[in-house]
Amino acid sequence: MELYELDRAIVGELILGKKVYERLQELCALGTRFAGTAGEKLSQEYMMNELTSYGLKPRLEEFEHLAWQRQSSQLEILSPIAKELMSVSLAGAPSTPTEGIEGEILFLGDGTPSEFEAHKELIKGRIVLVTSLSPQCECSPPRQCHRRTKYGRAVAYGATALLFMNNQPGMLPQVGSTRQNREGEIPAVSIPFEEGKLLQHYLTQGPVKVRLQASNRSFLNRTGNIVAEIHGRKADEVVVIGGHYDCHDNSPGATDNGAGVALLLELARIMRMLGAEYEKTIRFVFFGVEEMAAVGSSFYVARHQDELERIHLFINLDGVGKRGGKTFDTQGFDDVSEYVLGMAEQLGYGMKIPQPAFSGDALPFVLAGVPTMAMKRGGADSIFGHEPSGSDEDRGWGHTAADTLDKVQPFDLYESAIIAGQALLRAATHTGAIAKRRSEAEVKAILAQHGMNEVLSFMKWPTIPIGPKEYRH
Ligand SMILES: [Zn+2]
Repeated sequence: MELYELDRAIVGELILGKKVYERLQELCALGTRFAGTAGEKLSQEYMMNELTSYGLKPRLEEFEHLAWQRQSSQLEILSPIAKELMSVSLAGAPSTPTEGIEGEILFLGDGTPSEFEAHKELIKGRIVLVTSLSPQCECSPPRQCHRRTKYGRAVAYGATALLFMNNQPGMLPQVGSTRQNREGEIPAVSIPFEEGKLLQHYLTQGPVKVRLQASNRSFLNRTGNIVAEIHGRKADEVVVIGGHYDCHDNSPGATDNGAGVALLLELARIMRMLGAEYEKTIRFVFFGVEEMAAVGSSFYVARHQDELERIHLFINLDGVGKRGGKTFDTQGFDDVSEYVLGMAEQLGYGMKIPQPAFSGDALPFVLAGVPTMAMKRGGADSIFGHEPSGSDEDRGWGHTAADTLDKVQPFDLYESAIIAGQALLRAATHTGAIAKRRSEAEVKAILAQHGMNEVLSFMKWPTIPIGPKEYRH
């Protein structure tokens, strides 16, 4: 079949088959898929059954990691008034001593490097409060300021605990991880926007003292990545398309990343159903434990070290059900940017390449020098003509208890599906190299160029042995 016929077949089936949204409904009905929960296992079974029913032979590539379970958390203002605040621990955070931790609050805005630097002398012994916003910092070069960097800085500068306030109203704490595959050093809780605002108000009048008691548990969990392949003409030229199936423990993770899983399943079904002979082998990978800092994808890259040369492109689908035009973060690979812009032009989409975020399941592939593109919202025209809105500086409903099925509009999902389907088809039918695999020295240069050295060292990333040696912790 010609490319255009395949396009029509894929896009037609994505829309008329109506299965992407159905898959998402079914996934959300299983409850949370947080690592170490029963829902994680149920979702694995669900994906294995689906892939098998498409005539594929899925396998579970197992790994063992440090899982985490919340038990309780209690945050009280002791002065200027006595009041209990809503709080939930960040994933991976340790317990406090039973009697709790008491201390004065220090508010450091969005927790950017300059906020931390400016107040460096005041941090030791204090409980640091930051917002959840990830602004493209004033840093040069600009880069997103991630929660794990804020946590890392709070630890490095001697804070006794971290309070992470949601930057969006609605009395919703926004959870997230603290470290990769190791327990955090200091307790950390998320509080709703409104509780953070209240603390800020008291801080304008004088010191604010709080007590935090938190109890959490870490344990070893055996889980895995699910992998299924459609063999192409060239067995040694592989396009990996992946997304994580886990989510946090407070929601069914509809936007993050149920939508990506539903879409991956549907692409696997349709690409297989068409029975076309693609040039490259297509490998679908459903990663586990992304929400504990890209653990499953790191194990995947570590395990497949010897065949990474064969992976011509990695396409990541994460958070793809959100409103707004779609583009691809090409992770500082200039030849992948050229490839994406060429494709966008051919398809008539107005894509702009955003600043690389170096986050989620894309990062392990980047560290290993594999050409990577990660679907992202913003910086693009919508193919359905609606106004582009939002950016990934703000998670919206993601990581809150409100990341539920009703937050995903089918047409947003279809828009992502069409773009992902066309991108995958083009990569799979591409003859020869798509972009250059980077050497260790070239990876280091990309990371240095984007100011990632400092970020990775505060994050103590990676703990799983991949990428240039000096970055390992
Ligand atoms: Zn995600």
